[in-house]
Amino acid sequence: MVGLTLSLLAGLLLWTVAHRDAQTAFTVVRPKRFTADTVVIDAGHGGEDGGAVSQSGTVESQINLAVARRLDEIFGLYGVDVKMLRTEDAALYSDGVNTLREKKVSDIHNRVKMIESVPNATLISIHQNTYPSTKFHGAQVFYSNETLSCPLAQFVQETLRTVLDPSNNRKAAKISDSVYLMNHISCRAILVECGFLSNPAEDELLCTEAYQTKIAAALGAAYLGFTQEEMTS
Ligand SMILES: [Zn+2]
Repeated sequence: MVGLTLSLLAGLLLWTVAHRDAQTAFTVVRPKRFTADTVVIDAGHGGEDGGAVSQSGTVESQINLAVARRLDEIFGLYGVDVKMLRTEDAALYSDGVNTLREKKVSDIHNRVKMIESVPNATLISIHQNTYPSTKFHGAQVFYSNETLSCPLAQFVQETLRTVLDPSNNRKAAKISDSVYLMNHISCRAILVECGFLSNPAEDELLCTEAYQTKIAAALGAAYLGFTQEEMTS
């Protein structure tokens, strides 16, 4: 039942995004139940910090931003409050820092501060995976705080499996202690590795607008579906 509801919701979201130019003709419905929380969307990396780079030259930060923008658009259509940590290809470090290392540290500290300043926040941090071997592929969701974030992470993982690739058997997993941002925030938070840039086929797929939209629609459907279940349970 949940799977069916999600499929329908994801289908509706995909249709909505595909026809978004026509949306101006409609009144946007803002259901009250979706407005209590703010979704903070973190497009990982940016500017000098491109994150992972694929063999074909795909820069992770740009895929992250493309998916984040689409997710922001989808949430906008459904009346969800969104705070985007970045909307351009730029890092978020403070003035007065010089080396790349200082910039990275300042950028991460600023992201933490921005997230912590949002009341009732749910963080969706968007990244792309990479691995020395080319064989690994598939989206995976990570969380830090088990009680607070694991149920959402599992729900999102299941939705990504249903919508993107039914053969993806990856499970939502606890994130490494070394990921500073995810371990220094207090809100519900998930980090989504949308796919592996080290896998040539997935790299190619991740570069297409259609697949970026599909990922965003799956993430949007998962958040809305999870929120709805929370409200009714
Ligand atoms: Zn990353």
